[in-house]
Formats: sequence, structure tokens, C-alpha cells
Amino acid sequence: MRRLIVVNALIFAVLAAAVALAYYGYSFVSSEASREREENATIRIGEEKVFSIEDTILKGDKLLLESPLPLEQFLGKLRELANLTSGVRVQSVFVLDDQLKLIPDGYVSGRPDKEGVEFREWFMSSVLPDLPLAQLRVDQRGHKHSEWDGKPYRDAAVVGLFSFAKRVSGDKTYYIVIEEHLTNIVAFVFPVYFPRLDLERSKLVYQVIDSSGAVVYGLQFFVPPEGALTVEVPFTETLDMWSVRISEPNADVAKVIQRERVRDSLLVGGSVTVMLAGLLVLVFAIRRERRANELKSEFISNVSHELKTPLSIITMFGEMLANGRTKGPEQASEYADIIWRESVRLGRLIDNVLDFAKIERGKGIYEFADTDIGEVVERAVDLVGRRLATAEMSVEVHVEPELPLVKLDANAFTLAVMNLIDNATKYAADGKRIELKLERQGERIVLSVRDWGPGIDPEEQEQIFERFYRARAVRLKQIRGSGIGLALVRHIARAHHGDVIVESAPGKGSTFRIWLPIPE
Ligand code: ADP
Repeated sequence: MRRLIVVNALIFAVLAAAVALAYYGYSFVSSEASREREENATIRIGEEKVFSIEDTILKGDKLLLESPLPLEQFLGKLRELANLTSGVRVQSVFVLDDQLKLIPDGYVSGRPDKEGVEFREWFMSSVLPDLPLAQLRVDQRGHKHSEWDGKPYRDAAVVGLFSFAKRVSGDKTYYIVIEEHLTNIVAFVFPVYFPRLDLERSKLVYQVIDSSGAVVYGLQFFVPPEGALTVEVPFTETLDMWSVRISEPNADVAKVIQRERVRDSLLVGGSVTVMLAGLLVLVFAIRRERRANELKSEFISNVSHELKTPLSIITMFGEMLANGRTKGPEQASEYADIIWRESVRLGRLIDNVLDFAKIERGKGIYEFADTDIGEVVERAVDLVGRRLATAEMSVEVHVEPELPLVKLDANAFTLAVMNLIDNATKYAADGKRIELKLERQGERIVLSVRDWGPGIDPEEQEQIFERFYRARAVRLKQIRGSGIGLALVRHIARAHHGDVIVESAPGKGSTFRIWLPIPE
């Protein structure tokens, strides 16, 4: 019954583990998919921003880089076209001939005079050699976003963006180079495309970062929390040293993810453990079942044998008596005695088998009543008296006087005691004597049955209480038995809230002890 509950609970646990794993798999796949969708959508937002900002820069340069005016007029209108008033995006413009020499009047700058001159010198010596002007085709535009050693600004490195184009006017080839006003682009162009940040409400944080990850625009000290969705979309045409970074501002995201990770590993670990445990129990149960089946068939042949022997003895002596084939009344009484003894033995075997069958079916078979246990034990010894005499064994019985009454099923307990004495006569007849003690030990009453027989191998001392188990030694000696006696004794002891144990060493005899609790 208890095994059935355990098996059912196990099946349920394995099923639950399988469902949990399936659920985990499903939720993992769907959360990954939704995260990927979210990430793709964010990348698209970033690409849009990059495109819009670059488009603004490109369109703004058009007036200068794609001017339809001939060179002379273009130079005349250079300052006007560059529109160098404060707040605009062009800082200075250089017009160079095909030898990359500055054309007279080919330089306008938004910088004050001295600074403007310094900047021009620095540009000609430090920046110009870096610009890939020679590779340009006519009317082709290019951009260079880079870091230069910033001499006019002392030792600071200067990040600059230069846009340029190769033009032809008449037979003259010339180059226009624009120094974009990066500070103004950052200060006035970026804010148009990036919404103002509200950490409480904004779902996304926008930043522009340089190649080292330093923040160029946006919240300076905001670092995307670990595990939060973050995408970086680089500028492609103009500001290609920089990227737009978009991330979730919510710091809780990391915690949620951490929590989910712990939950997931617990879930997966737990489920796998339960399933492995289930598998293990299954393997164990199959092995146990197979063993039980082997023992059962052995049991059937043992019992049949046990039944047949007394029956054939009874039949033989009964027939002799019936036919009057006796030498006298003495022999007749001897035959009758044999018949009686074998019938008793047969009866006890049948009792054992029937009781065992009842236990196997799990029926409530015990009826408890307050009983004098000493009397029950003495009666049991009486019942096996003849059997002891046949085995030429003596029994010493010590019953402690004035033992308290215990709740006992007298029939079942008698059967248990008889089984223990029977076993001693069967397996320990060589020891010639049995000692039976009933005494109080603290809160228990203990019945011990001691013999001086061959003892039991320590490895088998637990197994002999299993149903159908018979020790190797007795199987070899072909001593008959069914293997259910001790299983029955244990069941009876446990039904009385006690138990049975054995103490034995090979060659030193065995002591079986049944203990029962004394009711309070
Ligand atoms: P059976 O006696 O029918 O074989 P039991 O369940 O009564 O079945 O006993 C199981 C096994 O325990 C026996 O087969 C025997 O090997 C061993 N055994 C029981 N009692 C003794 C004993 N007093 N001395 C030695 N071995 C014993």
C-alpha cells in the first residue's frame, strides 16, 4: 500500500518535472524570440537616427561642395556660402589647387584672426596629408572623422570631421575641404534627433559614444545595466568613429534577469534530478520485482514440497493403520502419533501461507486486545513441544513475572513465536537447546529466542526477513522451507508497533528478538 503511494507520487513527480522542463523550454524559446524582436526593433531605431543625422550633415555641405558657381565666383562668395555665423555647422573652409596648395582667398574661418591663422598652419601641416584627396574622382565627396595631434590647442588630441570634394572649373581642378563645427553638431544637431531623457519614464536611453566607449553626447555617467537590452549602431559615412548607443535604463532589468537565471537553473536542475531519481527508482524496482518473481517461483516449489512430504507420510501411515498392518497397539499408537504430528505441521504451514497471503493483500488482519503476553508465549511453547522432542532439543523458558498487559493479537503473536522456535528446531538442532526469555527492558517487552546452531552469515542477516528469502547455507543443505516465516514474524512485530532483530555470528548460534512497546 505504502509502496503504491510512493510509486504514484514518483510518477507524478517525474511527470511534473517533465512538464516543468517542457515549460522552461517553451518560455526560454519564446522569451529569446521576443528579446530578439525587441533588439531588432531597437537596432532599426538606431539606424534611423544615424541616417537622419548623417543626412543633415550631408545636405548642409551641399551648398559648398556641390556649388554650380565657377571657381572665381565661388571664391568670391565663399564666406557667404560658408555662413560662418555662430551656431552653424561649418567652422572653416579650405579651397586647394590640384597641387594641394591653398588658393588665394581660398580660406575662410569662423575662428578669430590669430587663431584662424594658427589653425590654417596646423591644418596644412597636420591634417591635409591625412586626407585621401588624391583618390577622389571629380565631384566625389569624402569624409574623414579622426583624431589628430592638436598642436594649436597645445597637446590635446583633436577630434575633427572634415568633408571634402574634388571639383573642376574650366581647366582647373581644385579641392574644397570643410572643417565641420563638431561642437555645434553635437550641441544643436544631436538634440533634434534624440529625445530628452527622463530616467523615470523613458523606455530607452540614447547616447553617442566614441570608439573607446566614452560618452560624446547624452547622459555622461549612464552605463547600461548588465543584462539590459543595449544596441550600438555605428555612423557609416561621416562620424564613423562614433556610434549611437541605445539601452534600457531600467536597472531592475538586471536583477530580474539574475532572478530568472537562478530560477531557471533551479528549475532545470530540480527537474533533471527528479527524473534521474525516478529512473533510478525504476531500475531498482525492476530489479526488485525480478528478484521477487524468482523467489516466488522458488517459494511455490518449496511450499508444494513442504505440503507433499507430510501428506505422503500421513497417507502411508494412514493406509497401514486402515489395513491393520501393525504389529500391535503400541505400533498403531506410534503411527497415529506420526499422523497427528504431520497433520499439525501441515496445518501450521497452511496457516502460515494463508496469513502471509492475507498480509500480501494488505487486509487489516489483526485484532488487538489487552493480553498477558507470558501466557501466550507459554502456550506457543506447548504447541511446539512435540516437534522439539522429535528434534531432541530442550527448551528453557524464562518468563519475567508480573509483566504488564500489552495490546496483542494473541493468534498472530503465537504464530510468530512458533515460527521462531520452528526455525531453531529446523536449522539449529545440532545446538540441542533453545533458550526463550520474556522480559521487560525499560519501555519495552522483549522476547528472545536463542539457539546454539550454525548462525547466520552477517551479509544475509537483513535479507532473511524478506519474503521468500532463504539463506545460501540452508539451500545447499536442502533443508526444506518456504522463506515466508520470518517475513511474517516481522510483519506481526511491526503491526504491534515493535520490530524483530537478529544477532548472530557463524558458528555461534543466533538470537532473534521481538520487542513490543509497553502501552503508557
Ligand atoms: P524458511 O525457514 O521457511 O526458510 P524463514 O523466513 O523462517 O523461512 O527463514 C528464512 C531463512 O533464515 C531460513 O531459510 C534460514 O536460512 C534462516 N534462518 C532462520 N532462522 C534461523 C536460525 N535459527 N538459525 C539459522 N538460520 C536461520
